Amino acid sequence: MKFSVKISNFGRIGCISDLPKPWSTKIFKTPAFFTYTRGGTVPHLTHNTLERIEDHQNLFLLQTLPSTIDFKEAVEGQCKGLHNFVGLPEYPFHLSLQDPGTLTPTGYNVTKGMSVFSEGGRKILTPDQFMNTVKAFKPVSYQALSDSDTPLKCSKKRLIKSVDNSIRFLDECLEEHRKCKDLEDTAVFATLQGGYNPFLRKKSAEETAERTVDGYVFDGFHVNGPDVENVDAPKMIEILLNVFPILPEDKLRILHGAFDPQTMLEAVKCGIDVFDSSYAEKLTESGEASIYPLEAVSSFFSKDIIDSVPKRSKFTEKLSLKDGLYKEDFEPILETCNCYTCTHYKRAYIHHLLVTNELLAEILLMVHNMHHMSLFFKQIQNSISN
Ligand SMILES: [Zn+2]
Repeated sequence: MKFSVKISNFGRIGCISDLPKPWSTKIFKTPAFFTYTRGGTVPHLTHNTLERIEDHQNLFLLQTLPSTIDFKEAVEGQCKGLHNFVGLPEYPFHLSLQDPGTLTPTGYNVTKGMSVFSEGGRKILTPDQFMNTVKAFKPVSYQALSDSDTPLKCSKKRLIKSVDNSIRFLDECLEEHRKCKDLEDTAVFATLQGGYNPFLRKKSAEETAERTVDGYVFDGFHVNGPDVENVDAPKMIEILLNVFPILPEDKLRILHGAFDPQTMLEAVKCGIDVFDSSYAEKLTESGEASIYPLEAVSSFFSKDIIDSVPKRSKFTEKLSLKDGLYKEDFEPILETCNCYTCTHYKRAYIHHLLVTNELLAEILLMVHNMHHMSLFFKQIQNSISN
């Protein structure tokens, strides 16, 4: 995997290319998002309904370790990688350590490894065991084993432990990576830790920058799922801005979590390249549809028009379609949206599906929320380019 930065001004325009076969001709423009999956598949969407998503040929999936670790033996037995095992062979995927859409229990990591919570319970993975999983899953890229268990109010001792464990796990993963011929074309990402402590963030960045990796994941600002609401966004952005100069410029930067669009915009502007679509899934789970204004994105990236930057609340606009308000609302979710849901169904119908617990409700909402997020990122790319 190769990553190159084309423009670096009010955010970065980048390009992911040179993926291993069978994806070697694909090129992914950034800023972008990995399509969030749980248990191997995109929540609520089958293979067929996934094709209703805008630009579905160019999806880059995020497979998460907690929701797939139970498949390890079966995938290993099949020898064809996780993408074939879950029936999504046409999409390249990145393997993350955490499930950004699900709260991670805290207080369970140990010096020898990281705790993973799956349907089957808690498992402790050492770097060795983790690398065996990577070899079986065959991702295009993966996040080396790390210790991201640093909730907002954790102690300094925990933060230090997380930084130290993460560097040690990274070294062990890299050693195994170099020895394994099958991983020659697989990209490996290091994780930067240190929570909200600027000194420890700097230490983690300096030590990690000495290692040869393909990119960086910025974990440790939250412990996933609803905990993303506790993120101190201005402090997180300040920390990111301080550590970026320590790291090589031409490496991909990933930030996981179901952040609201405003926080994603701020993170893009400071230099993050890739997010994940767990926000679209989070809205869908609550019976909500995103309607944040795409046309307002460009003003966010304009240095001159400070006053026209939309207020924070604008980018969190959404419809709670369970609300009785929509019982007789015969408008589409969004008049200007050309997704499958908005061109075929009205708010009243989706409201009815939600209150009668019909599964189609989440399918239609997910199609719209994913489509809207895709357009949001296209708009971001255009705005930075302009
Ligand atoms: Zn729509």
